[in-house]
Amino acid sequence: MTVTYGQWTNNAYTSSTDSIGVMNKFTDEVIAEVGVASKADFDSMVDSAENVSASPLPPYKRFEILKKASELLKEKQHEFAEVIAKEVGKSITEATGEAGRSSLTLEVSAEEAKRISGEVVPVESAPGSESRQAFTIKEPVGVIGAITPFNVPLNLVCHKVGPAIASGNAVILKPAEVTPLSALKLAEVFKEAGLPDGWLHVITGKGKDIGTWMTESERIQMITFTGSPGVGLWLKQHAGHKKVSLELGNNSAVVVHQDADIETAAQQVAQKSFNNAGQVCISVQRVYVQNDVKQAFLEKLKVETEKLVTGDPMDKNTDVGPVIGKDALQRVSDWVKEAVDQGADVLTGNKIEGNIFLPTVLVDPPQEAKVCREEVFGPVVSVIGYQSEGEVIGLVNDSKYGLQAGLFTNDLTFMMKAAKEIKVGGLIVNDTSGYRVDHMPYGGLKESGEGKEGPKYAMQDMMNERLIVLQGS
Ligand code: ADP
Repeated sequence: MTVTYGQWTNNAYTSSTDSIGVMNKFTDEVIAEVGVASKADFDSMVDSAENVSASPLPPYKRFEILKKASELLKEKQHEFAEVIAKEVGKSITEATGEAGRSSLTLEVSAEEAKRISGEVVPVESAPGSESRQAFTIKEPVGVIGAITPFNVPLNLVCHKVGPAIASGNAVILKPAEVTPLSALKLAEVFKEAGLPDGWLHVITGKGKDIGTWMTESERIQMITFTGSPGVGLWLKQHAGHKKVSLELGNNSAVVVHQDADIETAAQQVAQKSFNNAGQVCISVQRVYVQNDVKQAFLEKLKVETEKLVTGDPMDKNTDVGPVIGKDALQRVSDWVKEAVDQGADVLTGNKIEGNIFLPTVLVDPPQEAKVCREEVFGPVVSVIGYQSEGEVIGLVNDSKYGLQAGLFTNDLTFMMKAAKEIKVGGLIVNDTSGYRVDHMPYGGLKESGEGKEGPKYAMQDMMNERLIVLQGS
């Protein structure tokens, strides 16, 4: 029998009249039903969140709750992994990794709750200020609306909820329609960890409706979003005076220079192009390889890619599972076809098996092909040759996105030049764009978004800094 979940509010489920089925992405079987929220459900969540946020929990309490939630999540890591593997379709190995990372994200958030501080502001440099002292204090913004995508359904939720609770805010979380189950399970963990009623609500249902309610509400002070650039831009345009933090797309580039360790580069590229079937914001999508080593790189990349085991995500041997749905399968297939029509060669892959698109390597698609220009969000990587350093920096920067990039080289001068000239939020040297540790600052330039993730950095946006000036006699 499939379980039906209502809305999560005040530490309990309510019932909903309508529901959406959540599917196992490998078998297409419905594994649960979740409620479709009404405007009245949303309004009562906002009432509750606004009510509690008038009296923020003290930082030591936030620390205790987040620490406990982190420990409980660790204990339940395998239960969470199973839910993630089924609702996303990522391999159970990756899903176990995601659950473990999520526990750490909450732990780091717990620690940051104890480190909130303002600064002492020097004022004596101004004439007549000798008897004044000034300092800043940080306060929670109030109620935060958080919207998250399907691809990393637990850890990206922890990246919103962890910092929001750590900085003293109440949160209304909207997980992706197709992957709401790990977020609901996390809310249950927060209840067990002692989070009082009102601080975390999980609203499920239609993205457009909930996004509209959130942007129109005067009682939500901030929207933090991870997802597609189109929706992110829409939210920003409709958010009015609210703060907005956006983690959007990318078409990540990796440069393999002639002096690089080609074997390592090929191994890392294969891993980070195809993990989670390429459905990661920092998946490797464009690989620019210096012409002298291109052939050797392609030979190794072919071997590494063909080693990957595709199949049922619940099988421990599986590396790559299905993409999120039939639409995604069709879109990825169409984009590969377009690239081939425009002159790209297929080194390996380009086949559909069930809901799986086989890991695919394209060679030399034109820079204007969608597989280069847009975010593929599927298991497709393109390899393109280059001659000079200046040329490749231009190719990497020829993108509307700028989240992360990778560079394989041991040439310090080239590293320094690339660090200065490649316009991305994070440049990873001697690894791929796909490297992320959860406490580090993470966020993009250009259409990749605004604001940073990583609990310490996200919390800066989730608080207001106020100045206090004291005048003595
Ligand atoms: P992805 O396909 O990577 O999940 P989306 O941007 O489609 O990216 O979805 C990210 C999140 O945004 C999901 O929770 C989805 O339900 C939600 N969403 C979709 N459309 C809207 C919208 N118009 N306003 C607010 N949220 C939306």
